[in-house]
Amino acid sequence: MKIVISDYAWPNIDIEKEYFMSKSVDINIATGKDDLLNKIEDADGLLFCFEDINEDVLRSGKKLKAAQRYGIGVDNINIKVATELGIVVSNIPDYCINEVSDHALSMILAINRMIIPDSKMVKLGKWNDVKKGSRVYRLKDATLGIIGFGRIGRRLAFKAKALGLNVIAYDPYINEKIYDDVNILSFDEVISNSDILSLHVPLTEETNHLISNKELEKMKKDAILINVSRGGLIDEAALSKYLDNGKIRGVGLDVMEDDNPSPSNPLFKYENVIVTPHTAFFSQESSQELQIRSCKQLYDVLNGKIPEFLINPDVLDHSDVNLI
Ligand code: NAD
Repeated sequence: MKIVISDYAWPNIDIEKEYFMSKSVDINIATGKDDLLNKIEDADGLLFCFEDINEDVLRSGKKLKAAQRYGIGVDNINIKVATELGIVVSNIPDYCINEVSDHALSMILAINRMIIPDSKMVKLGKWNDVKKGSRVYRLKDATLGIIGFGRIGRRLAFKAKALGLNVIAYDPYINEKIYDDVNILSFDEVISNSDILSLHVPLTEETNHLISNKELEKMKKDAILINVSRGGLIDEAALSKYLDNGKIRGVGLDVMEDDNPSPSNPLFKYENVIVTPHTAFFSQESSQELQIRSCKQLYDVLNGKIPEFLINPDVLDHSDVNLI
């Protein structure tokens, strides 16, 4: 059996090597897109993290039976083509819920308490020049609006409530009107009533540029905007324009439209924008869990089992797929 790893976000693949060692699985690591197109030709399985698994890649995998995402979001694989080709796509949707909700909360706390600009002033010898109070508000009783009330959104709500925040949420795909003291409201109500707005939806055609000019205009003065989900959710050109008017208090981003932005990215000139490089998922524990569970799920599919977290159930109707 041959598997290809297109890319990974940790220092080495010792865990993968150990997992497959006793299973007669040949592991191949691609060193870029061309190498991936070459190595996938006779591979049975694919492990992928951030690489774009587009139609070309999938069609090059002449024997490919399974593609396992190292992660939650599956916006970087062409699911329609995978299904058509009989390739089973799976993910691990629950391995980093604590880490990502911590990350969103850390950004909220850092922006609200002005941690980064104040620390910078102190190190510049300007201890007495820090203007206290101008845009710092009490977090208790402030309103946190969560867009997308799934695993991460709900975990963030739980943590935020412990800090005394009032939490509201928007999610058109859930039935509850109220969940654990969180009122589920309309999109407009959440956007316009939140002191802090945090995005926790997948990137789809429907959610692309979910936050653009119109939505930014509806946000409260001095609001905070957090995105630890996917860069495409925010129209960055609109955000940049909006930041110029100074109405927004701060923005926390773990993801950007360009996933390798240059230092000249227009958003980087604003002091009140903090950015981390798509690290919200990471901890030693979450990464280890992700690696092991991804290997296991891929191996299960290659051995005829329906994966626990199947993304494209329609694939089971494909004549070449025979899983139980
Ligand atoms: P989830 O599937 O549990 O929850 C997503 C929620 O969004 C669902 O309840 C769904 O109904 C809702 N939703 C879908 N479309 C919507 C829309 N148009 N408007 C409002 N709600 C909508 O997923 P999750 O585990 O909470 O993860 C959310 C996202 O976080 C993932 O899709 C992924 O892109 C991102 N993520 C980022 C990192 C990171 O390291 N930065 C790590 C993991 C996940």
